[in-house]
Amino acid sequence: MCSVVGIYKNQNAAKKAFYSLFSMQHRGQEAAGISSNENGKIHTIKNRGLVTEIFTEEHFQTVLKGDMAIGHTRYSTAGDDSILDAQPVYAKYGLGEISIVHNGNLTNKMPVRNELIKRGAIFQTNMDTENIIHLIAKDYEKNTLQERIVDAVKKIEGAYSLIILSRTKMFAIRDPYGFRPLSIGKIASGGYIIASETCAFELVGAEYVRDVKPGEMVIFENGEMKSIQLFESKPKKCIFEYIYFARPDSDVFGKNVYETRVEMGRELAKELPVDADMVVPVPDSGVASALGYSKESGIPFELGIMRNHYVGRTFIEPTQEVRDIKVKMKLSPIKHKIAGKKLVVIDDSIVRGTTSKRIIRMLKEAGAAEVHMRIASPASKGACYYGVDTPNPDELIASRMSVDEICEYIEADSLAYLSIESMVKSIKDKKEDYCFACFDLDYPVEPKE
Ligand code: SF4
Repeated sequence: MCSVVGIYKNQNAAKKAFYSLFSMQHRGQEAAGISSNENGKIHTIKNRGLVTEIFTEEHFQTVLKGDMAIGHTRYSTAGDDSILDAQPVYAKYGLGEISIVHNGNLTNKMPVRNELIKRGAIFQTNMDTENIIHLIAKDYEKNTLQERIVDAVKKIEGAYSLIILSRTKMFAIRDPYGFRPLSIGKIASGGYIIASETCAFELVGAEYVRDVKPGEMVIFENGEMKSIQLFESKPKKCIFEYIYFARPDSDVFGKNVYETRVEMGRELAKELPVDADMVVPVPDSGVASALGYSKESGIPFELGIMRNHYVGRTFIEPTQEVRDIKVKMKLSPIKHKIAGKKLVVIDDSIVRGTTSKRIIRMLKEAGAAEVHMRIASPASKGACYYGVDTPNPDELIASRMSVDEICEYIEADSLAYLSIESMVKSIKDKKEDYCFACFDLDYPVEPKE
């Protein structure tokens, strides 16, 4: 759950990277950073916090100059939010300077790291991304960065959408499975953008060109774009990008996210009908699917729950009292709309079940006659090893309880999940090209640790 961006050959490249990161802030709020290239010299600024909190106009005027830049927003797991783990990761090495941004998670981080340590490498961070820097730096037999990058990515496994900035070039690389998205756009005022999501293209005035293919390396050099297919493409694109991560206005893996979510809602209505008075989304995650459910079923769509958008991250101790009030601070029912009504409530997923339970209680306290939960994805049962910070499987309610038990726990009148088959119908694509591992536990790449 990170975002990456690269801006190649455009004036004020770092400023454009900043705008792009701002539009991809939903993919990570813990830290952000930008490296720019000013006539072959790489400058980096990174810190904890939101993009708008970190960068100032002065940074762009005095430090982040040049016509090439890369950037990153980071989502970190608890206890692992050291500033050292913010990206880009910059290094001076035998052939000059490089800076790297990475979205994804390497499944063989420790074996590779242990091998590098045996060869004398000293690590400064906990990040798997630092392995890539060391693999490149220690590849003494190869005399070009491009050859060293090719050697490095042959040694890493798992999920990686990478952008690498050197003194003269930019490289964009996607792992053979293409777990995480990476798209290329052409900027109207000149040059290219490479970004995790196409929503970044709007703010910088770019037109979508194509996706970086799974297993492909795209090289930006002398104002041109070249391509090398490094690995056979074996697509296993993350289905969760459609369900939850990506912004609805983005096109991910070649499809619009909003349209796909509406289709998921339609399939949900076909597969799991309910006799109800209104369709109510859990905002904002369930809105598009609820619209689809309403369109397909003919049951009116109503915003029966309002969301307070000013509830940010809280650093208050997570006591029971705080946990109880947190949902009420964020979500509030429109009582006169829902009182006495039979509701079908749509959400994108259930993780621990605690939020769903509080929402249902809140709706019943507001007078709802019945609350039927419909989830626009299959039940989440497994961890993700490819860059998504899912909780430990023991904390996932569907890994411990049957659907009936979850229904009883969350105090719903009924509960049902979209099947994998219906989800495939809604994306209108080949099932085998997608990863569903957190639902069916069929992991495309087994982790090595
Ligand atoms: S395990 Fe789930 S979240 Fe992770 S890549 Fe696969 S579908 Fe996406």
